[in-house]
Amino acid sequence: MLKTSLGGHRRRNLMQSLLIASIALMGIGTAQAQSGAPAKISTVYTGDVINGKKVVSSLNTSDLEPGKKHLLYFQGVQMSTGQHWYVSVIVAKGARPGKRFTLTSGVHGDEMSSVHTVQTVMNQLNPAEMSGTVMAVLDIARPAMESMQRRWPSSGRGFELTDMNREWPGNENGLGAVSRQAGLVFNRLLKPNTDLAIDFHTGTTGLDVSAFHIGDMRIPEVKTMMMLYPVPAIFDNPVYPGVLHNAYVDAGIPAFTPEVGVARRLELGMIPIFVEGTMNVFKHYGVVPGAIGRTAVDANVYVGKSAVPVLTTHGGFIELLVKLNAKVTAGQKLAIQRNAFGEVVAEYASPVNGLVGGLRTDATSEPGNVLLFILADAAPVSGAAAYPE
Ligand SMILES: [Zn+2]
Repeated sequence: MLKTSLGGHRRRNLMQSLLIASIALMGIGTAQAQSGAPAKISTVYTGDVINGKKVVSSLNTSDLEPGKKHLLYFQGVQMSTGQHWYVSVIVAKGARPGKRFTLTSGVHGDEMSSVHTVQTVMNQLNPAEMSGTVMAVLDIARPAMESMQRRWPSSGRGFELTDMNREWPGNENGLGAVSRQAGLVFNRLLKPNTDLAIDFHTGTTGLDVSAFHIGDMRIPEVKTMMMLYPVPAIFDNPVYPGVLHNAYVDAGIPAFTPEVGVARRLELGMIPIFVEGTMNVFKHYGVVPGAIGRTAVDANVYVGKSAVPVLTTHGGFIELLVKLNAKVTAGQKLAIQRNAFGEVVAEYASPVNGLVGGLRTDATSEPGNVLLFILADAAPVSGAAAYPE
């Protein structure tokens, strides 16, 4: 499953390279394809109002009235019908200046607890007592969210599904709607308004995951932010190119990715961990007043350098022998697989010492699927960072 999607990404990159090369050969050049954000962004109201919210095509939060919350739609890329995909933006503009945070959700369309976490945090903010700005962008991959699926359905070469979290920072003049949506959102909304960023995710459909963060702890402010959450685990690894938090980091903006449990439904027992942690971050940076609550130290956090996948070698019915967050040792039996006759066709053991961070939800599997992810002490090995944030 994962190998296929990574292979698809490589194929797409190859096709894009070939296309750019052929455009260059035609003498058109690629300068147009390289244009990025203007140096200083200004707020542009399109004049449209949707559901009572004003629409912007670019935003500078310093233009907004302090001490208030502002609800806006950002005009994203066009659809095949010529209409636009709009994304929902909330800006809590503090009464006084300070750090500017951006919280995002919905880069994958089936990750509902990420949306609910951001909504809950925004509801707790009182701009009148804030020093700084918190911007939330809730539904970035709109068409993926409309169909409750991870990837964005696009029509470039017939119907295809594109993982938006391999496209950042995008390209406003790129090949395909997903790259353009990423470019528009990143250049005109996220990057110009952000000092520090948190991009909320959950596991993907088919994989139960525990509460943890993904981020590069070598970046001091990323480490500071991640450790302010009472999470039981941290995956200390930058993971893939094209991921939103890495696009931020490349732009000099410290950022990381919390993982709020399973896809598709709300993890109401887990969301408070991430709300408390996010409010801790705001308190630490002086955006909101108040005492810092529980942190990763209180949660006895486990920090793993790699997420080692255990892949099925056979097709058949899966019986899992471990639960999420279980500590496992190398060689420990994790699952048994049987054929339709009930005969055992495979047994799976942990290749490393670590903590069970992800478990397949379906009780059957084809060969080559991810059965488990083990957050492990071991340094990443080839293919080991294939966790589908
Ligand atoms: Zn995700």
